[in-house]
Amino acid sequence: AVNVNDMFYAYSANDAIKEKGEYGGAVTTIMKYLLEEGIVDAVVAVEESWDLYDAKPILITDPKDIIKSAGSLHCGTLNLAKFVSKYLDGARDMKIAVTVKPCDAMTLKELMRKRKVIEENVIMIGVNCGGTMPPIPTMKMIRDVYELDPKDVIKEEISKGKLIMETADGEKAIKIDDLEEDGMGRRENCQRCTMNIPTNADLALGNWGVIGPLTGKATFVEVCSEKGADILEKVIDAGLIATEAPIEKGVEIRANIDNIMVNQAMKQREKDFAGTSGDILDVFAEYKEEFSKCMKCYGCRESCPLCYCDDCCLETEGPEWVPGGYTPAAPFFHLTRMVHMVDACTNCGQCSEVCPSEIPVAKVWATVNQKVRDIFGYYSGVDNDEPLPFTEFGPKSYRQY
Ligand code: FAD
Ligand code: SF4
Repeated sequence: AVNVNDMFYAYSANDAIKEKGEYGGAVTTIMKYLLEEGIVDAVVAVEESWDLYDAKPILITDPKDIIKSAGSLHCGTLNLAKFVSKYLDGARDMKIAVTVKPCDAMTLKELMRKRKVIEENVIMIGVNCGGTMPPIPTMKMIRDVYELDPKDVIKEEISKGKLIMETADGEKAIKIDDLEEDGMGRRENCQRCTMNIPTNADLALGNWGVIGPLTGKATFVEVCSEKGADILEKVIDAGLIATEAPIEKGVEIRANIDNIMVNQAMKQREKDFAGTSGDILDVFAEYKEEFSKCMKCYGCRESCPLCYCDDCCLETEGPEWVPGGYTPAAPFFHLTRMVHMVDACTNCGQCSEVCPSEIPVAKVWATVNQKVRDIFGYYSGVDNDEPLPFTEFGPKSYRQY
């Protein structure tokens, strides 16, 4: 029997999936099984669109199509929780399995707490994540620093502290710390992310810790919930994936890499939050000049997976775009938005990514969210306690308490 906290090395018994999968195709095989058996109605994953730098979310209902989603796209900066809540009505009327990076899983969990995503209808198949890279700056970095044509890169990965670009002619590797010191490499929110292994999902799969003969050919699986244990047991019993007990040294290595990454992220947090040790309004005072650049395009609100009100109080001033000649009263729009989402913010970085004024909005929310963590001990997307009683329609009104 498979139990919570069990660990395995795993790879697909299907040759095509094993070949196309990033590290043996266990994730893709599990998804295929769930669809074929009718355990879920659809799978939400990510597929390569134009090229390696263009990741797009897909909804798969035909098991034959699942292979399209195999492989890891490190420039896939999307947040699948938004896709589920906005376009699939929070899985209210369908059962789905979703491939989740830690920030996807954290955000889904926050949305589940608010009943914006229906927990019972969602299976979360987690993939470890050491960070994603912004597509356009990454292509520029490949051209200028690696002196390669981005089109020639067939695979990119971070291994042993280096960012490796692989082409048909071989590999070029540069220390990730050096790249990040010069403003390249992973997205700034990923650099301060303290969750690399999505133990908040049902299963967590990644290459860290796979050593010995299966290096590069299998993925490490950690079972994180009863749901995950049940699924993995069924897939193994059906003979669809092969498993082996992990090498003990590999288990240690995985834990060590995770520790190193978390410590680095903590240091990054110290750096990012320096000068904001006061209260929340002091944080806004610190970023006053940045906020004065806000043109109130509402991009950050639109992209935020935790900003979901249908009838939004931030829309009282009219359409999506600011009328000509109107100067927005920054930072009041942001102060209002903050009250709605900051306790749940998962540092997913979507807001900074879309901001045309290049305001470091994600850093501001991470700064304030850290205060929530410090003062109330609540780690959003990870802790299981419910900070606020929620109904299907949002927070309860005072009268309902
Ligand atoms: P596959 O069968 O190939 O399935 C991969 C699944 O990931 C597919 O469902 C695919 O749609 C989905 N996917 C691809 N790109 C994304 C994306 N951007 N966002 C969400 N889902 C996506 N493992 C580690 O141990 N350490 C790491 O530092 C690490 N970093 C990663 C960073 C990213 C951005 C991703 C996507 C994965 C990372 N992994 C990391 C996990 C690893 O690359 C494999 O996904 C994992 O080992 C499972 O292998 P597999 O062959 O079973 O996956
Ligand atoms: Fe302001 Fe940037 Fe948000 Fe647009 S995306 S409303 S400019 S902070």
